[in-house]
Amino acid sequence: MRITDTSDLWWKNAVIYCLDVETFFDSDGDGVGDFAGLAQRVDYLSELGVTCLWLMPFYPTPGKDDGYDVSDFYGVDPRLGTHGEVVELVRTAKDRGLRVIVDLLVNHTSDQHPWFKEARKSKDNPYRDYYVWRSDPPPDTSDQVVFPDQEDSIWEKDEKTGEWYLHHFYKHQPDLNIANRKVQDAIAKVMGFWLQLGIDGFRVDAVPFFLNDLGMSEREKHDFSEPHEYLRALRQFLQRRSGDAILLGEVNVPFEDQVAFFGGTNGDELTMMFDFVGMQAIYLSMARADARPLAEALRQRPLDRISPDSQYANFLRNHDELTLDKLSEDERQEVFAAFGPEPEMQLFGRGLKRRLPTMLEGDPRRLKMAYSLLFALPGTPVLFYGEEIGMGENLELPGRMAVRTPMQWTAEPDAGFSTAPARKLVAPIVTGGFGPEHVNVASARHDPDSLLRHITLMAQRYRECPELGWGDFRVLEQPVTAVLAHRCTWDEASMVLLHNLDPESVVVPLTLDDDEEGTLLVDLLQEGECRLDERRRVELALDGYGYRWLRVQRPGDRRLP
Ligand code: BGC
Repeated sequence: MRITDTSDLWWKNAVIYCLDVETFFDSDGDGVGDFAGLAQRVDYLSELGVTCLWLMPFYPTPGKDDGYDVSDFYGVDPRLGTHGEVVELVRTAKDRGLRVIVDLLVNHTSDQHPWFKEARKSKDNPYRDYYVWRSDPPPDTSDQVVFPDQEDSIWEKDEKTGEWYLHHFYKHQPDLNIANRKVQDAIAKVMGFWLQLGIDGFRVDAVPFFLNDLGMSEREKHDFSEPHEYLRALRQFLQRRSGDAILLGEVNVPFEDQVAFFGGTNGDELTMMFDFVGMQAIYLSMARADARPLAEALRQRPLDRISPDSQYANFLRNHDELTLDKLSEDERQEVFAAFGPEPEMQLFGRGLKRRLPTMLEGDPRRLKMAYSLLFALPGTPVLFYGEEIGMGENLELPGRMAVRTPMQWTAEPDAGFSTAPARKLVAPIVTGGFGPEHVNVASARHDPDSLLRHITLMAQRYRECPELGWGDFRVLEQPVTAVLAHRCTWDEASMVLLHNLDPESVVVPLTLDDDEEGTLLVDLLQEGECRLDERRRVELALDGYGYRWLRVQRPGDRRLP
């Protein structure tokens, strides 16, 4: 008997879409995107097949880290709207069947947050212990900074009190002391507040940074001897308030170390984690036209040590630099050479500033293959806004801002994003070959061959095939190294998926030992089917950068081909 339905653990086959309200759609012509504008574009996202929005920080902020420097966890940046408009957006989204998750910043606040302003007033201020202080000069920590172009230490001296405070990110982002019960309670209240407004969970920022005991006093280390207890407590609190809300964690650590952040087989910490290791393997595999690094990364996922309810979130691009930090130096250089050879395309020595279409020189076949792969991988796909139309970046913008340009809706010079003059826009519109006259939603909607149509189809097929999000998977052995062949199976449902990372066409011989002679493989993306011969073999042709999604159709299978 099956006691779960695919609608229960909704995150296991969601289609998640990350966007920044300020760059999505400006409804009032002030040059800044807003909640009212986003609400007007919910139907577009629903039609694309998105089932969950992830909103980047929209809280009041001095704006020194694009909103990741928060000065009020309960507020709404007045440029973007009001609480009333957030509620309208959430309501509209729900009406169209979309959930909404928001960024949760546990690691740090802005230095303009009232807690920090208080904390730095004196050593005995009641808020002092909300942050992490040391009184003796810190050692060299230059190898621990996240932004090596801006910072050379994770400790900053506060002149007034003569002590140093911890900041893993910028010096204007002091780290919270999460060993402090008051901070823990304060974070829980923030979660409770947004949940009460109808939010379905949180993308938890920078998890490994706050889950360590760096800089704590001995007493606190004692109280906090098992940092994962805190993550468990957060999850319990979340689930008490909202049974099916999720925590999607940003945890860029090796597979081995990920198990603990999921809460192992208990699955009682993060509900989902981004697969940073798999993402980097995809780029290495694409650079080499060799699927083996990706196959190896998939095999290494520690699935037997985590709960079946936990889930990996797959992505090709996010809002930060495309980090390649988990590759070896030689591998990273290979990816740089293939996809971002110029210094201005690279960031922090570890990543790329570019979006995928420019890396792939706009090659439509290769782009479609890459997005087919994103949706075909075991797990839950996450899109970053603009990926669905093939937006490019603006390398002239500093750092991570290169990929955070306004959404391109129409072919007009302002991309239909805003009616404000260009000088008032929150960020400049991309120009050149990837500018709005070439890349925009309006024309993509009318072009049957567009990337937008392709991704819409992929999202539909993904939703129809729960084995992709829910199932067990296996990399299938076969001799063509450029091809990833894998199989996903859940209950009666089973699929074989093939992706050719090479521009040359190939024929892939497969043996499916578990199936009977005569079993049909039905193509879900184009007309066609083939049958296993008496040795349970089949030969499958793939174009250059070709991909196939084949349903293993057993006798009596009544699912729609
Ligand atoms: C976010 C970044 C941000 C940093 C500091 C990261 O996890 O993805 O965009 O700059 O945290 O909050």
